[in-house]
Amino acid sequence: MRPLNFLALLTFSITCTSSVFSAAALAAPAHAAAHGHAPAHKNNAPAASNTANARTPCARLTARLQSVTPAMCQNSQLVQSGARSRQGFPILTRQQASTSKKDSVRVLLIGGIHGDELSASSAVFQWMQWLPPADSSPLHWNIVPVLNPDGMLAAKPRRVNANGVDLNRNFPTPRWNVEAQRYWVSKTGRDPRRFPGSSPLSEPESRWLSEEIKRFKPQLIISVHAPFGVLDFDGPVDPPVRFGALRLAPIGVYPGSLGAYSGNQVPVLTIELPSAGRLPDQAEMRRIWQDMLKWIEQNIPSSNQVAMASARPNAH
Ligand SMILES: [Zn+2]
Repeated sequence: MRPLNFLALLTFSITCTSSVFSAAALAAPAHAAAHGHAPAHKNNAPAASNTANARTPCARLTARLQSVTPAMCQNSQLVQSGARSRQGFPILTRQQASTSKKDSVRVLLIGGIHGDELSASSAVFQWMQWLPPADSSPLHWNIVPVLNPDGMLAAKPRRVNANGVDLNRNFPTPRWNVEAQRYWVSKTGRDPRRFPGSSPLSEPESRWLSEEIKRFKPQLIISVHAPFGVLDFDGPVDPPVRFGALRLAPIGVYPGSLGAYSGNQVPVLTIELPSAGRLPDQAEMRRIWQDMLKWIEQNIPSSNQVAMASARPNAH
């Protein structure tokens, strides 16, 4: 862990006893409000300017995510990573190492790389509620429920970040300078929702994730999206066949995507939920979660010696 993060966590653990979040610890950056990026609110939610608490990251996120209550967010053990989005919103993470298994599988779980896929972030919040305690979990989790907070908290949620970049096209895949631009121009017709950026890792969100992958060294990356209602997988082990009602169905290969970037070194599982705006029901969410844990247990080795040679470029 970097010294800055350690210091932040230490300070945090001293100042907060009952909840990971407090208004003081996680107050929204002043300049975000100054730039007019006030969140949308549920009908019965207080306006952001009414109370200090309403400006905390949890208050802002749960005002947008209808399936996530403030209590769910506040009890989720999220902490600030030290990184911030382009508009200064903190990138939040939950890190939970296994205390029962020394050589535990390290899993990086990411939601909301596309800001308009609200269900992807909500699902990660939901699954965090079901995370087994560290002393009975065989996995070392690193969880990022909202990688693109600016896109999610925009007046109208949008896929791209505050700089208009599709973060899932901004990773430094081979020949990015040629391929990502060519794909954007010729295949998408310069679709602004799919702009890959001016250079790889030009955005603070993608840059932080790239650094976090190098630091954490996950043995599996799970990225949650919507709304295709399928599973996709890139890696040297047997792919999952089915989680709940979601079945394996490759969905394409894209220059600059997270899967294409890291999938030849680390298995990348893409979960495409069936709706961007609505979570599957609780029973289905539970089936997906349990099927996923079982598949990880049976297929992802805990050592670092995952074969890399047979990997193929990933989709999404
Ligand atoms: Zn997506």
